[in-house]
Amino acid sequence: MREPLALSLLNDFLYCHRRAALKIVEGWRSANAHTARGDIVHEHADLPGYEVAKGVKLLRALPVFSDRLGLNGKCDIIEQRADGSLFPVEFKVGKRRQWENDDAQLCAQALCLEEMFHVAIPRGAVFHADSKRRREIEFTSDLRALTEKTISDLHALLDSSAIPRAVFREACEECSLYEICLPRVTSQPAAFRQAAEKLFQT
Ligand code: SF4
Repeated sequence: MREPLALSLLNDFLYCHRRAALKIVEGWRSANAHTARGDIVHEHADLPGYEVAKGVKLLRALPVFSDRLGLNGKCDIIEQRADGSLFPVEFKVGKRRQWENDDAQLCAQALCLEEMFHVAIPRGAVFHADSKRRREIEFTSDLRALTEKTISDLHALLDSSAIPRAVFREACEECSLYEICLPRVTSQPAAFRQAAEKLFQT
């Protein structure tokens, strides 16, 4: 049986393929101000348990998995509504904005819940901590296809053990693996070769 992948890797992969590879192939983890803020935002949602608010049961930190897709992880919050329907909510730092990687991560949670509980989950939401607003997301056929393709690409990446070359861009400045990846050097093979030669000359 193939090794299950962590749900959160979908977000990494759609942010940058190299970032996901550095994590799953080489096992790198690193924190920066951005990830520290994310940890604080998740503090409450990471405590397993449940509560009832305004007639809605809130399940926190529920472990989820999909044997079909080879995935596991947890959902920050699942709202169980009066009619029994489930509605996943993912907490994110930053203001209310649409990011494809957040949408795919939430959709993957819905795919796990659908397989586990044999129910249809048409929608969920991302809660943006800075603006304290939620953005509702419909799990359309396009989003489901993107999510399943990303999961399949991630499994292929793990099987190949290949680390894609860095492509330096603005988003690198916020990446917690910046100091490990060194994208300004590793994105340019000639500069990388020179740096490596200098290192081994001493
Ligand atoms: S620093 Fe840039 S290229 Fe390197 S892993 Fe992060 S986002 Fe990807």
